[in-house]
Amino acid sequence: MTPKAKAWKACSRYCRLRDALAYCRERKIPLHQFARPEDVIGKCCTCGAVKSWIWMDAGHFISRGKGGVSGVYFDERNVNLQCKPCNGFAQGFAQEYRACIIKKYGEDMPDELLQKHYILPDLKDLAMKATEQYYKEQYRGLVEGMA
Ligand SMILES: [Zn+2]
Repeated sequence: MTPKAKAWKACSRYCRLRDALAYCRERKIPLHQFARPEDVIGKCCTCGAVKSWIWMDAGHFISRGKGGVSGVYFDERNVNLQCKPCNGFAQGFAQEYRACIIKKYGEDMPDELLQKHYILPDLKDLAMKATEQYYKEQYRGLVEGMA
């Protein structure tokens, strides 16, 4: 796996568990019933389907640009829990996803993310290793917060 792929894996795991925990807290679903953090259920941000996050995707609101990169590829506000059918559908249900972003982060966030999309990110190995490390720590923080 390339450093970028490893960084994405860590980012994806963090964002999916984050959203699943938020869903359970909102619905007052007790977390002790889940044997592992991977079993925690969450809701697809575009269709509302509910299942364990490990069986779902971390979908990008703004996906890769023409050059194959995006300044918001690793922006956690741009990455949200989405079921595989929605994420696989052309443009990932753009209208529904836009509504989800506004609900979660406010009216201005779609434009803010779109502007950042055009700023090329540092995808060199060193930056990717730091990104992987950062999201692994964030994930650990979530798991510790479950206890
Ligand atoms: Zn869905």
